[in-house]
Amino acid sequence: MATTFLYRCPNTRQTVQGWSAEDVSDDDEYQSIACLACAQAHLVNPKTGKVLGAEENAISSTTLGVAAALWSLRMIHSLRLKTNHQLMT
Ligand SMILES: [Zn+2]
Repeated sequence: MATTFLYRCPNTRQTVQGWSAEDVSDDDEYQSIACLACAQAHLVNPKTGKVLGAEENAISSTTLGVAAALWSLRMIHSLRLKTNHQLMT
């Protein structure tokens, strides 16, 4: 079941519609979203529209930022693999 939801992009402050291929059952579950507004990945809670790390980015922590960036890259990669798989089927 696909889920659509709205979230606020922390980079552009725009309200963006997100889309998840997975059924969201957990209130605390965050999903990696390829943002339509800034073309970067955000971790968004589809139930609440909350963006993980949005507040932390404003404070700017180098160590956390690098770790989050590396993790985001991994998430984008797996997201792309999933998308490719869906396109082929
Ligand atoms: Zn964004």
